[in-house]
Amino acid sequence: MHRRITASGALAAALLLLAIPASAASHSPGAPGIGDPYYPAYGNGGYDVSHYDLRLKYQPATDRLEGTATLLARTTQDLTRFNLDFLLNVSEVRVNGAQAAFTASGEHELSIIPKSPLAKDTPVTVVVRYSGVPSAKQAYGFTSWLRTPDGGVAAGQPEAAWWWFPSNDHPLDKATYDVSVQVPDGTQAISNGTLQSSSSRAGWTRYSWRSNKPQATYLATLAVGKFDVTTGTTESGIPVLNAYSKDLGDRYGAARASVERTGEIADWLTEYFGPYPYNALGGYVPNTDTGYALETQTRPFYSPRQFANGSNTSVVVHELAHQWYGDLVSVAGWKDIWINEGFARYAQWLWSEHEGEGTAQEIADYVYASRPADDPFWTVRPGDPGPENQFHLAVYDRGALALQALRNEIGDDAFFTVLKGWPAKYAHGNASVADFRRYAEQVSGKPLAALFDTWLFEPSKPGAPAARDASIAKTPVTPEQPRSWKKIAATNDVHEHEHAE
Ligand SMILES: [Zn+2]
Repeated sequence: MHRRITASGALAAALLLLAIPASAASHSPGAPGIGDPYYPAYGNGGYDVSHYDLRLKYQPATDRLEGTATLLARTTQDLTRFNLDFLLNVSEVRVNGAQAAFTASGEHELSIIPKSPLAKDTPVTVVVRYSGVPSAKQAYGFTSWLRTPDGGVAAGQPEAAWWWFPSNDHPLDKATYDVSVQVPDGTQAISNGTLQSSSSRAGWTRYSWRSNKPQATYLATLAVGKFDVTTGTTESGIPVLNAYSKDLGDRYGAARASVERTGEIADWLTEYFGPYPYNALGGYVPNTDTGYALETQTRPFYSPRQFANGSNTSVVVHELAHQWYGDLVSVAGWKDIWINEGFARYAQWLWSEHEGEGTAQEIADYVYASRPADDPFWTVRPGDPGPENQFHLAVYDRGALALQALRNEIGDDAFFTVLKGWPAKYAHGNASVADFRRYAEQVSGKPLAALFDTWLFEPSKPGAPAARDASIAKTPVTPEQPRSWKKIAATNDVHEHEHAE
């Protein structure tokens, strides 16, 4: 697939060389993908977005979304054309004020040809007017737009943006956001960050949200519906805003009893990960029939099903841990997913210890001992699981087990220094599994290549000698199931893919 795209890109470049004057010969099309081998068509090349301004109107009854996106970007090469990732119907595109030609292509590409070629390293403003019914649009046979009885929700990983705004859809290109959405009076629009204003006129209410720190496209969220909204302030002074669909039925109490713990849990996480990195906090529970939760920046999405059997603070811990591991420091490529999920799962283990329901060591011992060597679980390599296994349970459980092995190898002092130092070192940027290994080696002064290879990269269960070396499952008897185990397991579809079901 990647090769086909490269070949057609080269062909297009050759044709352009024939068609344009010699003075512009250095200009070429931006690549239709940012270069992620897991998802070759995701993101785009040739520019970097710094800000998205989304001014939208949404009608819950018909699921019709319309509006204007204004993107502030900077070119990273001389460009004859460039792509955005988007699925809705576009009526007009302007580049630096002038009308631009555009065509839809591929599964989710919007190809834009500016009136005049763009020079490398110059600012560019792109305005896209669009409309459509997000639930009617699919790419690769699925949709990340969730319809609810009273509205709709954009929350999905690794892709969610295509259904509601045009973007450079890859975590490598983070930007700030202003999201302003008009909905019928009596309905609310929830997004990331702080609510700057809300005002009503002629039957419509406009909600204007601001996310003022760099944010990956898949971490941008929109939820329209009828919500009960609660507000508060954490002990450390961060404003909290939570939203609960009014029609959660008998899950309402459990959802609220969990998500209202957000401020307390975020403050607890700062002991391990350092200061909370954003100026807003919260969570929302819309009435979807999905099962997963997602770390949408500052305001995670929770499916009601997470609270089907009572309150669940473990899933809140998981999604809030991502605010540091995943949101503040994002994957360099989707193969680095362990940087997100191994740590969010390990935070759940630390919470279990905090709650007196089993220590991280006990849970690690249990994961190791309860899965025999011939369990296919061990064939998944958390350090590079492949796109088909990106959200496999092994990325979570074996991923957190690897962290316990690391902790035992370098000791608590170095381990917790690494845990807290990493988010600061790569704040608002991206990093890879290899970057993490180098950082842990630097802090601990120990070579760790063999340990990382054993616990993250071998497609087999680490043998008894490796486990002994890492102080995992030292006793020959299978340990008892930790008391927190079932609750943690209940969060296992945190990133379940709708289209994979
Ligand atoms: Zn997660």
